[in-house]
Amino acid sequence: KLDGRATYRFFEPEMDARMQARRRLELDMRQALARREFHLHYQPQLQLEGNRLVGCEALIRWQHPVRGTVSPLDFIPLAEEIGLIVPIGEWVMRQACRDAATWPAPLSVAVNVSPAQFKSERLVEMVMSALAASGLPATRLEVEITEGVLLHESEKTLQTLHRLRELGVRVSMDDFGTGYSSLSYLRSFPFDKIKIDRSFVSDLSGKRDGEAIIRAIAGLGKSLGMTTVAEGVETIDQMERIRAEGCTDVQGYLISRPIPAAEVLDFITAVR
Ligand code: C2E
Ligand code: MG
Ligand code: MG
Ligand code: MG
Repeated sequence: KLDGRATYRFFEPEMDARMQARRRLELDMRQALARREFHLHYQPQLQLEGNRLVGCEALIRWQHPVRGTVSPLDFIPLAEEIGLIVPIGEWVMRQACRDAATWPAPLSVAVNVSPAQFKSERLVEMVMSALAASGLPATRLEVEITEGVLLHESEKTLQTLHRLRELGVRVSMDDFGTGYSSLSYLRSFPFDKIKIDRSFVSDLSGKRDGEAIIRAIAGLGKSLGMTTVAEGVETIDQMERIRAEGCTDVQGYLISRPIPAAEVLDFITAVR
């Protein structure tokens, strides 16, 4: 935007190729739902006290017939931009509730909900309908939001969050610490859970300040009555440090990679 020539740079061949690639991805994504190319993987979350499995996070996977597996990092942002995240997110919510209803209580499922879904009028109704259709109690559903949701901190968004909470749905702050004002968001809504971003966990292995940050967030969570989950735990060493700093839960490759829905029940039985 700072480039005064931006208008004609648009027509440079390289840019044109990028626009075309994006357009193709968009067309493919529009068809992916109907063609049943999306599915969900689940990543277990472990409570450190008693090594108890508490639930799983639903993570979308796109199996494209030609492209192969497309990472959510490569299509969720575009889906948000063009509003397609609303129908995709609805499919995720319904499927996740259906899957979780087959897991033994009180295991819960965590579903990522994008900012664009909060702009849609019927998010609460959609969640209620997904719960009713699946028979999953609201108390076993958790919604994960990032700072993007609260960025413009509209009354409406907060109202939606409170309505979800009144249903019994829990609300987590995802990727905590990566944005500009994580702390002030904690003040705007009484989250149930803070998910400490993976980057702080990987800092544990090298940087000296890694521990101090995890300790501070764990302490903050404790005094605010929130669960604190460390994301991206890959080694036993990291898990033990996280335990020592007072985090309550862990999620990461050490416990399990995200696994297909069909394997969740086996995993649950194996760790019990
Ligand atoms: P997220 O919600 O923060 O999810 C955690 C990501 O970290 C997942 O990546 C997971 O596979 C990865 N991860 C978990 N443990 C480890 C670990 O030990 N090491 C490493 N290196 N990575 C780990 P994934 O599945 O690629 O998803 C990326 C992001 O895409 C998610 O970040 C979330 O923001 C978004 N996303 C995924 N599924 C959905 C969805 O259904 N709806 C929406 N709106 N966003 C989604
Ligand atoms: Mg998440
Ligand atoms: Mg995260
Ligand atoms: Mg993330």
